[in-house]
Amino acid sequence: MTDAVTLIRAKRDGLRLTDDDIRWLFEAYAKGEVADEQMSALLMAIYFRGLDSRELRTWTAAMIASGERLDLSSLARPTVDKHSTGGVGDKVSLILAPLVASCGAAVPQLSGRGLGHTGGTLDKLESIPGFRTALTPAETLDVLATAGCVICAAGSGLAPADRRLYALRDVTGTVESIPLIASSIMSKKIAEGTAALVLDVKVGTGAFMKSRDQARALAQTMVALGEEHNVRTRALLTTMDTPLGRAVGNAVEVAESVMALRGDGPPDLMEVTLALAAQMLALAGIEAAPSTRSDPAAAIADGRALAAYRAMVRAQGGDPDAPLPQPAHVTRALPAPADGWLTRLDALAVGTAAWRLGAGRERKEDPVSAAAGLICLAKPGDQVRKGQPLVELRADDPERFRGALAALEHAIEVTGQPPPPLPSPVIDVIGP
Ligand code: URA
Repeated sequence: MTDAVTLIRAKRDGLRLTDDDIRWLFEAYAKGEVADEQMSALLMAIYFRGLDSRELRTWTAAMIASGERLDLSSLARPTVDKHSTGGVGDKVSLILAPLVASCGAAVPQLSGRGLGHTGGTLDKLESIPGFRTALTPAETLDVLATAGCVICAAGSGLAPADRRLYALRDVTGTVESIPLIASSIMSKKIAEGTAALVLDVKVGTGAFMKSRDQARALAQTMVALGEEHNVRTRALLTTMDTPLGRAVGNAVEVAESVMALRGDGPPDLMEVTLALAAQMLALAGIEAAPSTRSDPAAAIADGRALAAYRAMVRAQGGDPDAPLPQPAHVTRALPAPADGWLTRLDALAVGTAAWRLGAGRERKEDPVSAAAGLICLAKPGDQVRKGQPLVELRADDPERFRGALAALEHAIEVTGQPPPPLPSPVIDVIGP
């Protein structure tokens, strides 16, 4: 038998928590016997002192045990999911889930909403007229069985302890902790019941993790947690210094995803998507030899990936043929400052601009604009002419343009020399 103050003091002083301590903590917190302020103090102690691998394993298991687990064993296909740590213009899930489904796997994607400058997959999909993201577990299974993939919100019964902890971390400056991020993400993914998982850990100005070392440490921690819970897990480290693709926002990212599924996606977006697809199929045990039915490139070329997307949208109540919301105002307001080559288009600045245009939210309860966002008309490496529009901004409310343009003020660099060829956005693969 222990108590919250003893555990807070122990972690504050650099001692390790035992399995019993951690199990007691989560049970007592669920019963209201540990107060939010005590949990917050412990989270801050963990922020500074960390959790060792044994503590982290028990902590994550306790978060999973706080709720229900989805049972996907009735599905005829192997299950595999993907999770991104969040970036700007990151619409990969919208393309990847139907793409991998069309190659023979079942993809249960329980996704989140955007917060701050990073977009959320659910916000993007909700710009499709009629699309429903709140599904019951039975509906989730039905959509998976019909379309091969589903993208919906994680139900409130899945790892509910994470929901409460995340809300505390959000207001106590304790989000940026590798063990806390890893346990938060992995508890939801393990509870979701997927047999395999590919993580896209973003690194760069527009990502949670600004350095490669931090990103690699987060990836290794999550891969280890997945393996310990019998989820075959691998992570890709990918760059997030400039937006992925050209569109940043909600409806604009859906439109770009559909273009990608038609075979007309921007090269950086396709490279990341196809690299993730290859890893997902490998973990699902599906051999994706070139030009076979399980080859992702062939599934895009012959229209099967697009057909799977349309089936998923319909199965979730959406109309894949309905026009997407258009903004009340469009302006082309960011001209190139000089002739030359665009060498920098900063992801964080572009994400902040899209957020200020109305595509993102400040607080969880805020609404988002489906039509707001921006299009990067030029990408790093492109030759540009002075005055040529580099970024097109879209908003429902013209008052929003000023703040968005201010965010973009230092986002761009044009130089007189062509830059060296851009390196691949895929930096590394981590895992077994
Ligand atoms: N996403 C999550 O789900 N949890 C975190 O802690 C950070 C990002």
